[in-house]
Amino acid sequence: MKAHDGMYIDGAWRDADGRDTIDVVNPADEQVIGRVPAGTALDVDTAVRAARAALPGWAATPPAERAARLAALRDVLVARKDEIAGTVTAELGSPLKFSQAVHAGAPIAVAGSYAELAATYAFEEKVGNSVVHHEPIGVVGAITPWNYPLHQIVAKVAPALAAGCTVVLKPAEDTPLTAQLFAEVVHEAGVPAGVFNLVTGLGPVAGQALAEHPGVDLVSFTGSTAVGRRIGAAAGAAVKRVALELGGKSANVILPSADLAKAVNVGVANVMSNSGQTCSAWTRMLVHRDQYDEAVELAAEAAAKYGDRIGPLVNAKQQERVRGYIDKGVAEGARLVAGGPEAPRERGYYVSPTVFADVTEGMTIAQEEIFGPVLSILRYDDEDDALRIANGTVYGLAGAVWAGDEAEAVAFARRMDTGQVDINGGRFNPLAPFGGYKQSGVGRELGLHGLTEYLQTKSLQF
Ligand code: NAD
Repeated sequence: MKAHDGMYIDGAWRDADGRDTIDVVNPADEQVIGRVPAGTALDVDTAVRAARAALPGWAATPPAERAARLAALRDVLVARKDEIAGTVTAELGSPLKFSQAVHAGAPIAVAGSYAELAATYAFEEKVGNSVVHHEPIGVVGAITPWNYPLHQIVAKVAPALAAGCTVVLKPAEDTPLTAQLFAEVVHEAGVPAGVFNLVTGLGPVAGQALAEHPGVDLVSFTGSTAVGRRIGAAAGAAVKRVALELGGKSANVILPSADLAKAVNVGVANVMSNSGQTCSAWTRMLVHRDQYDEAVELAAEAAAKYGDRIGPLVNAKQQERVRGYIDKGVAEGARLVAGGPEAPRERGYYVSPTVFADVTEGMTIAQEEIFGPVLSILRYDDEDDALRIANGTVYGLAGAVWAGDEAEAVAFARRMDTGQVDINGGRFNPLAPFGGYKQSGVGRELGLHGLTEYLQTKSLQF
C-alpha cells in the first residue's frame, strides 16, 4: 500500500514538522500496511496559513470554474475507483464489493452533485431593495472519522470548495491512506495550490490544534459525541461556526400492518452493513408485542446467514468496546438470539453479527451507540408506546418506519424526533439533507443544505 511520508500542503507533498509516525493496520489480519506522519500543531499552522493565502483567489473564482474543478475531481475519483475501494478495504476491512459500491460509489455521487450545485446555485439573489450575496465562510477545518473514510471527506470538502471556501483536512488516524489518495485526486483534478490541504495525525494533537486554530472560520466535525461536544464548546468560546455530525441510536419502527419479513430482513441488513459502523444504522428494532416472537426468529435467522460476509471492526479498541457492550446486554438481562461476545476468528478484529431480544428501554444497549454489528429488538404495546420508545434517547439522526399503507408510515415518521426517516425501505438519497436532531449534531450535510453550511450572507441595499 502506497503511503506518503509528508503532508499535502499548498499544492505539494512537504516534509512533516516532526518525526513521529502512525502505523496503519489492516483490521482483517492485523498486519501493518503503511505509515503516515503524525502531524504537529506547526504542521496544522502551516496548512491553515496556506488555506488562508489561497482563500481570496478561490473565493473570487467564478462558480462555473469551481464547478469545473469539482467535475474534474469526480472524474478522477471515477478513474481511480478500484484503487479507492482497495485502499478502504485494506485499512477499514470492509468487504471489497461493499467498498466498491459504497465507499467508492457514494463519494463519486456526492462530488458530482456539488459540481452541479456549484454551477447552478444562485450565489446572488434580489430581496426587495437588497441584493443578497452568498459568500464563502472562509477557511474550513474538517475533522473526519474512519467509518466511511472517503464519503465523510467528500461530504465536507466538495460543498466547501463549491462555496468558495478553502480547507484543511485532519482525517481519522485509522484511515489516513484513503485521505492521502484523496489529496492525490484533488491535485490531479487541477484544484489550485492551497485550496485543499491535508494534515494526518492524532485527534488530541493535530485535530485539536486545527479545531482551536484562530485562522479557521468553520470547524466541521464528524465523530463521537464526546469529542464533538468539546469542539462545539471551543468553537462557541471563539465565536466560530461549527458543524457537528455525531452519533445515533436510530429506531426501525415496524407497524403491525407492515410486511414483517421484509422489514426485519432489511432492518438486519441495515445494522450489519459496514460491520455496524454506521452512525445512521437502525440499531433499535421496534416490534408490536403480537408479532414480537416471529420478528425475533426472523432476525436471528437473518443475522446467522451473515457468517463470513461481514468484515472486521476497524481496530482492537472498537472490537473490545463492542464486545463490552454485548457483555453488558447479557448482564442487564437481554436475551442473545444470534452472535455473542466471543471473537469468531483468531486473527482480525471480528465480532459476530449479534441480535438481542427482550431489550427494554432503560438498558445500556438500548440507549448508547455501540458502533458494531449489534441489533436490539424492543417490544411495544401500541403506536403511542412505539413513538415514546423511538423518541426516548438523546439521539435523533435517522430511522425507519414500515406500514402497509404509506400514509400511515408518513404520519408516524412526522412525529419522530429525528433528521431522516426511510419509509418502507426508501433508498439513500445523496441530495437529501443529512444530520441530527437533539444530540446527534448541529447542521446538515449533502445537497443544497450541505452547501449553505459553508456560506454566509451579505445584504447590499439600494
Ligand atoms: P473520535 O470522535 O475520537 O474521532 C473522530 C475524529 O476526531 C478523528 O479524526 C479523530 O482523530 C478526531 N479527534 C479525536 N479527538 C479529538 C480532539 N480532542 N480534538 C479534535 N479532534 C479529535 O471517534 P473514535 O474514537 O474514532 O470512535 C469512537 C466512537 O465514536 C465510536 O464507537 C462511535 O460510537 C462514534 N463514531 C461516530 C461516527 C459518526 O459517523 N457519527 C464516526 C466514528 C465514530
